[in-house]
Amino acid sequence: ILETRGLNKHFGGLHVTADVNLALEEGEIHCLIGPNGAGKSTLFRLILGEHAPSSGSIFYAGHDITPLKSFQRIRRGMSVKFQVPGIFKALSARQNLEIALQHHLEGGSLDAEADRLLDFLHLREVAEQFAGNLSHGQKQWLEIGMAISLKPKLLLLDEPTAGMSPAETFATGEIVQTLNADGVTILAVEHDMSFVRQVARRVTVLHLGRIFAQGTIEQIVADERVAAIYLGHGHA
Ligand code: ATP
Ligand code: MG
Repeated sequence: ILETRGLNKHFGGLHVTADVNLALEEGEIHCLIGPNGAGKSTLFRLILGEHAPSSGSIFYAGHDITPLKSFQRIRRGMSVKFQVPGIFKALSARQNLEIALQHHLEGGSLDAEADRLLDFLHLREVAEQFAGNLSHGQKQWLEIGMAISLKPKLLLLDEPTAGMSPAETFATGEIVQTLNADGVTILAVEHDMSFVRQVARRVTVLHLGRIFAQGTIEQIVADERVAAIYLGHGHA
């Protein structure tokens, strides 16, 4: 469903994305891991069209979408939850979802669809609270809710479990698996290996902007070269 071909991105003298060829099969859950600064979030921005690549191209559902703007890619079925929060803190959780939902209703009422999402994301009890007052985990779920309100075919999640307890992380894995069972292809940047183990069919390791390794989670955790790049970093 998605393929990057020879993707490069330079920021001044910094080579942040280096010749990345990443192919996602329709229907898979793919995790992108790598140390801080590896270029994971930049790759997401390139895929979504928020950055133009220095060279290379991006194919989506068989079409070269490199020239398309971000909104055109979203219209074709991409959606993203960024690493940096994008919720409206002074609105309730429900109001945030309704804003995201209003242009994408396929029949049904806004209220009913918001209720369905609130239940799915374990947010029903805090629906009327200000989004800014939710816990870290609840904010992440709300962000995921905003992203899936667009009814994406391809969902990009940048650190969906950041700030979550182990129980919340596991619940997020279940949310992702349910979405996937409903036909959404998912690419997730993750640092939490229990989450990667829970959901990922394939894992790509990014290091210094390059694809460093690729395989099943078992292959990746057994790879001593991969372990070595994490030495000196906060998480493995
Ligand atoms: P993290 O795990 O910390 O989120 P990451 O893998 O998502 O890291 P990126 O945010 O993609 O890494 O950053 C990769 C490198 O590119 C970093 O050195 C960062 O400082 C640099 N970078 C990112 N965005 C820009 C920008 N807009 N201008 C200049 N440099 C940037
Ligand atoms: Mg990042």
